[in-house]
Amino acid sequence: MSSLYSNPEPLEDSVEDVFAKAEKIAPAAPISVLSLEAIELMRSGGVRPGPLEIPRGLRAITSDYFAMRVNCFLVWRVGSHDAVLFDTGADVALVNRALSEEKLKLAEILITHAHGDHIAVCEELCAQHGCPAHGMAFCFGGGILLTPGAEIATAIGPVRCDHVPGHAEDSLVYQFSLEGRPVAVVGDVIFSCSIGGLRSRPAESLKNIRDFFAGLPSDALLLPGHGPVTTVMHERRWNPFLAVAV
Ligand SMILES: [Zn+2]
Repeated sequence: MSSLYSNPEPLEDSVEDVFAKAEKIAPAAPISVLSLEAIELMRSGGVRPGPLEIPRGLRAITSDYFAMRVNCFLVWRVGSHDAVLFDTGADVALVNRALSEEKLKLAEILITHAHGDHIAVCEELCAQHGCPAHGMAFCFGGGILLTPGAEIATAIGPVRCDHVPGHAEDSLVYQFSLEGRPVAVVGDVIFSCSIGGLRSRPAESLKNIRDFFAGLPSDALLLPGHGPVTTVMHERRWNPFLAVAV
C-alpha cells in the first residue's frame, strides 16, 4: 500500500551551486566530476522529482531554519503507535501536529549528523516526549552514540546505519524497509540532483559517496535533509555527481 506524495520542495541546489561544490572537489576541472548529460538537463530545469508513491507510515516534515528549509521524517509501522523521527528540523509544533494527526507516540529520534539545522529542536522534543535521541557524535535524553555498520533495534524494527562522511564527519545514512519498500534516510550526503557540500578530503569523500550510492537498492526511496524526496532511480539518471551512463 502506498500513497501519492506531492513532494513540494524545490531542488536544494541550482546549477551554480552544483558547480561551486564541484570546484571544491576538483578545483582545476570541476566539470570532470560531473555528468555532462545531467548538468545539461539541470540547466534546462527538467530534473526535479515530481510526485512520488511513498509507503504508508512515512511523513516528511519541512521547517524553516533561518534562510533555509530543512527536512525531518516521521516513520511508523501501520498498526503501531510508536514512531521514529529522523532528524528534528527546527519546528516543534510541526512535529507535534504530525504526531497528533497520525495518533502516534514519539519513541525515539535518530540523527543523521549533528549540524544545527538537523538537531535544532532535539532537546525540546526529547524533553516533551521523554524519548532518547541517538546519533554518531550527538545523543540526548538517554540516547546512545551509534556505532556505524550496525543494525540497530528501533521502534520501527531493524535500522541499518552506515557512516558516509564528507559533508560532516558524523554523517550516518539509515536504511530500513517500510511496507516492503527500501528506504534510505540520507541526511546531507545526497540531495536530489546534488550532494551536501564536502568539507573534508572532498575527492576521497565523493568516491566514498559514489560507492555507497552504487550499493543502494535500485528501488530505494531517498529521504534527504534538504530539497525534495527522491529515488535511487531518479538520482542515477539526473544527479550530476552520481549519474551513470545509460
Ligand atoms: Zn543540513
